[in-house]
Amino acid sequence: MMWAGAPPSPPQLRQIKETIRRPATLRRMTHPDPAQSDRAAVFRAEGVTRVYRTGAVAVHALRGVDLRLDEAEMVVLLGASGSGKSTLMNILGALDPPTEGRVFFRDRDLTRASDRQLTAFRRDHVGFVFQFYNLVPSLTARENVALVTEIARDPMTPEEALARVNIDHRMDHFPAELSGGEQQRVAIARAIAKRPEVLLCDEPTGALDSTTGVQVLEALAQVNADLGTATVLITHNADIQRIADRVVVLADGRVVRDEVNTERIAPSEVSW
Ligand code: ADP
Ligand code: MG
Repeated sequence: MMWAGAPPSPPQLRQIKETIRRPATLRRMTHPDPAQSDRAAVFRAEGVTRVYRTGAVAVHALRGVDLRLDEAEMVVLLGASGSGKSTLMNILGALDPPTEGRVFFRDRDLTRASDRQLTAFRRDHVGFVFQFYNLVPSLTARENVALVTEIARDPMTPEEALARVNIDHRMDHFPAELSGGEQQRVAIARAIAKRPEVLLCDEPTGALDSTTGVQVLEALAQVNADLGTATVLITHNADIQRIADRVVVLADGRVVRDEVNTERIAPSEVSW
């Protein structure tokens, strides 16, 4: 638990410094500015705040966030623990409403949608990937993906989804028979099988070592390149920002940086 006003602990300080260190390939830009982009916006967040109230205590997790995500864009969302990354992702994915502000998916105002419309929005348009894979242990990799393809409107086959993230050779294995990185790739296959326009990934490499983490980043980069899936990749590893088209840094519930990355590196070049 971080108390407002308390000095950050040494590990938190290290994380904050890592976040502030910016690679030379990042170019400062102002977003949202429609004139700067020739691509259509998939998401637009305007003045988004989120206050969590627990008894008498109010936590201001987001303090007025403006953000735009364009078609086919790979955005890394970076920030220290507690900076509001998960809160923002949950609001974009309509898992949680903002306290104030607007969130648009294309030209639809999600903050005015009914619960039913939001459920349909999540089902049809958004893929989620979380730190801990959330696979069903009693089902094989293929069956885990099939759970989604059976209810989607225009899905790819489980085999194709698994092949796109290079895990089709383990299709008939159960989660317990797979490494963390392999399980995460099955989770990504499950998320992309319905061909979502947006993939929201919350610390997808957070529980992985460098080798398996790189494989997961490669899978995400591959999907982004092949299918043009707009991707938000949350991380607190500052080096991962170098694989992005754009980097957005949150600190204390605010966007403190929003920059284009001019030289994207391959996931295999990321240092852990
Ligand atoms: P991050 O993902 O960057 O680590 P979060 O979005 O999870 O940050 O959290 C931002 C702030 O909101 C933190 O101070 C956290 O403790 C607080 N917070 C997050 N979720 C809740 C919740 N459900 N109830 C109360 N406070 C929360
Ligand atoms: Mg988080």
